[in-house]
Amino acid sequence: MQKKIEHLKVRREQNVREALQKLDAAGSGVLLLVDSQGKFERTITDGDLRRLMLSDAGLESTLSLLPSMKSVVVQPGAAAREEALTLMVRHSIHHVPVIDSSGEVLQVLDRKDLDEQILLSTPHLGDQEQEFVAEAFRTNWIAPLGPNVDGFERELAAWVGVKHAAAVSSGTAAIHLALRLLDVTAGDEVFCSALTFVATANPVIYQSAEPVFIDSEPESWNMSPQALERALADARRRGKLPKAVIVVNLYGQSADMDAIIQLCDAYGVPLIEDAAESLGATYKDRQSGSFGRIGIYSFNGNKIITTSGGGMLVADDEDLVRRARFLSTQAREPVPHYEHTTIGYNYRMSNILAGVGRGQLRVLADRVDARRRVFDRYRAGLADIDAIEWMPEPSWSRSNRWLTAGVIRPDRSNVTSADLMGRLAALRIEARPVWKPMQMQPVFKDKRYFAHDSNSVSQQLFETGFCLPSGSNMSDGQQDRVIDALRGLLRQA
Ligand SMILES: *Cc1c(COP(=O)(O)O)cnc(C)c1O
Repeated sequence: MQKKIEHLKVRREQNVREALQKLDAAGSGVLLLVDSQGKFERTITDGDLRRLMLSDAGLESTLSLLPSMKSVVVQPGAAAREEALTLMVRHSIHHVPVIDSSGEVLQVLDRKDLDEQILLSTPHLGDQEQEFVAEAFRTNWIAPLGPNVDGFERELAAWVGVKHAAAVSSGTAAIHLALRLLDVTAGDEVFCSALTFVATANPVIYQSAEPVFIDSEPESWNMSPQALERALADARRRGKLPKAVIVVNLYGQSADMDAIIQLCDAYGVPLIEDAAESLGATYKDRQSGSFGRIGIYSFNGNKIITTSGGGMLVADDEDLVRRARFLSTQAREPVPHYEHTTIGYNYRMSNILAGVGRGQLRVLADRVDARRRVFDRYRAGLADIDAIEWMPEPSWSRSNRWLTAGVIRPDRSNVTSADLMGRLAALRIEARPVWKPMQMQPVFKDKRYFAHDSNSVSQQLFETGFCLPSGSNMSDGQQDRVIDALRGLLRQA
């Protein structure tokens, strides 16, 4: 940054030609005129140089001909960016230097960095996706199925350490198939994490089964083993155990798998692991999504890697995965005359999209590191704001930090998470609330729910929580904008 600023500095004894060359090389649209001490005097734009030449100054004339002028500048601090943007709009300019009290230029703010919309989580392509897709075109493997589908299944299974995988059209489709594979039918109960995206629970309804929602625990924000235990004990008393438990790994962090698996085993209930958000995360050094009888992933556009839309079902049990492929291709019996003995779906992934997935898988480890770094920068940049408490990471967890999530402690600030999101939205920064828990959704209002204890943890997280922009391709400058906005809001409160 400092080096870049040095490239922008010119002095009055330099000539117009040199200034133009500097402007051209820097590509920034603005130069900084400084005195012999290196202190800021004024900005110079290409318009200023053009006007100078039109007033008969030649290329060899020095910049001493430039009139003195009080340039628009801002002082350093949390409000600098916002103030700069206001000034840029008012004066129709694109650059504002940040000058400290001694006249030193710390930074030049660029309007396009300040008012460009920052999104929550955007696709981030690597170098190889196009090659796999091009190969599909070259060999005319455009139809669903094909070598990229086989390759993607094989490579993902190896990556996460599960024996078999079936590539499908979405994470939701994978969950629906998982329920079919476990024979969930009308009237069955399925226990499901309460704090999740609705796609986890919808397939239970597709099967005309009954979801029962299980609260989160504060340590991981994921399924509370103690709530699950109460729900299972209650089910046994009623004489109706659930057909499956669906556990969600929220925002890229694994649930407490040992405790949950122990309970599921004790009651003989199979576990489906919804790892749509947690691909690349680990629990006790083992890959997220590899713990359930069946695991599912999503490659929707906002997930840590994407095929624009897609999903995967994984299991060690080869028969289950073979049957998933069968059900996802209209349940066609292996005979020539289109024979069907059960109802299937059109859920298979296309060979083109699987090509994108293969490329994305090759950069997955980098994407995890990048998202964790985004989280670390937020934490460091806001370390002194004690009203913010980040989503914890228990010792057994290595989250992929798909989304940086936190809460504003109501006992430490009057600012609400709604205020925070409103403020960020006004600054063209997309932030979101924590998922609205399923038991609070109108569509599930009559469903049963087991809270963690006398507290409903998922409800508290919803009421106080927020998610910040977390894309692996966010620039430091974009992140600084988010940090400054939060500091501005929470420091004065
Ligand atoms: C995204 C998501 C899904 C659904 O995945 P799609 O590919 O969008 O169908 C399911 N569960 C959770 C927790 C998700 O975040």
